[in-house]
Amino acid sequence: MTEETPAKVNMEKIVSLCQRRGFIFPSSEIYGGLSSCWDYGPLGVELKRNVKEAWWRAVVQERDDVIGLDASILMHPRTWAASGHLEGFTDPLVECKGCHLRWRSDELEGDRCPSCGGELTEPRLFNLMFKTFMGPVEEDASVVYLRPETAQGMFVNFQNVVNTTRKRLPFGIAQIGKAFRNEITTGNFIFRSREFEQMEIEFFVKPGTDEEWFNYWLEERLNWYVKLGIKRENLRLREHAEGELAHYAKVCHDIDYLFPMGWAELEGVANRGDFDLVQHASFSGKSLDYFDDDTKERFIPYIIEPSAGVDRSFLAFLCDAYDEEPDKDEIRVLLHLHPALAPFKVAVLPLSRREQLVKAAKDIYADLRQRWMVSYDDAQSIGRRYRRQDEIGTPFCVTVDFQSLEDNQATIRERDTMNQIRVPISELSNTLQVKLEGEDLFVLPPGGMIWKEEKKGV
Ligand code: ATP
Repeated sequence: MTEETPAKVNMEKIVSLCQRRGFIFPSSEIYGGLSSCWDYGPLGVELKRNVKEAWWRAVVQERDDVIGLDASILMHPRTWAASGHLEGFTDPLVECKGCHLRWRSDELEGDRCPSCGGELTEPRLFNLMFKTFMGPVEEDASVVYLRPETAQGMFVNFQNVVNTTRKRLPFGIAQIGKAFRNEITTGNFIFRSREFEQMEIEFFVKPGTDEEWFNYWLEERLNWYVKLGIKRENLRLREHAEGELAHYAKVCHDIDYLFPMGWAELEGVANRGDFDLVQHASFSGKSLDYFDDDTKERFIPYIIEPSAGVDRSFLAFLCDAYDEEPDKDEIRVLLHLHPALAPFKVAVLPLSRREQLVKAAKDIYADLRQRWMVSYDDAQSIGRRYRRQDEIGTPFCVTVDFQSLEDNQATIRERDTMNQIRVPISELSNTLQVKLEGEDLFVLPPGGMIWKEEKKGV
């Protein structure tokens, strides 16, 4: 991590926005919270769903060489012997002899406790997997683990997928799901927690083509973040050094993001070679090789794995979108979220609570809700309501005023530019659709009719 920090945004502002507006709450807050576990509130759940949806769309829906899977969190315990997690999924733990705080010794700068300066114990290896018991008897034979990554569910289903889909190499399996790690040190909000979600692809390729596919996926994944609005200069690629590589990986690059606390991993892209299928074949006694119909060869595929965190992506999208602008004597806080990610696509705002206006606004609200998540707000001044929507990243507001009752038109106001156009109410839904897809604000279908720009509004 470095000292560089993007302007305007810091973690306190993000945490405060998340709590104030209902993106994220501490888990079980009324009991004092549970360390490093978080609940996604009404806005957070929408943003999180949109992040997952955008990923699924890019890696499954829009491709014909990746299919989805949803494997169970609890897996046969032999899985973790084969994967190397029972032996090797450990961090070196040291404890302060004075204050008894625990630390990861590989993350410490000196040899004293960072909190009180006390003496530390010798490091011991600590396994990060959460253990529990299956069935009513708590004995060694019934130990199972909460999965620390979603990847293994895809490896053990490799043969099922080949048999049922008839997919030929190269192809991938994609999965989104919860993972659990009993991290020694957590923190930086949702960046490192003990329960989190991953979005992983296991892409199976013919040995010899692995380098090419590794480079392909690295670029593909980097571009995904950029397309969804993350500034390129806030992303970097970092190759793992020899001693840092996981036991299974031939090569691994991290896609790092410049978080408020510095550069840190957003996603890892690894060339895992044939490690996983060889291990599972050997531990299960089942063949996991692949027969190439064209060349009549039998071999174990290599695997390229882009492994991203939902929560870290969520945090990166939020930090990158965060902005503050001078606004008379105040500051306008706004999230420049990509429309695909914004929790609400549109907010409907009647200028006042007069009955006729409310009726017209509610009709529009009911209509637009058929297509998108839409917010309705009639409390306080219109300026205040625009600010509230800006702060949660709503790309468009639709304002219904008294003139609307006469001319059947409403105003669309755009978040980033604050520009406004007036549009027939019957055209609202289609106009918004086009704008949400990124078309110029002032060009309307059908027939590319140009609407006049009105004054720059509040
Ligand atoms: P780190 O070095 O930060 O501990 P890692 O290299 O152990 O991460 P991977 O095993 O490569 O992480 O997991 C893939 C992705 O899962 C990470 O890039 C990250 O986005 C996410 N992830 C891993 N651990 C956590 C965690 N404790 N909290 C939130 N997300 C996590």
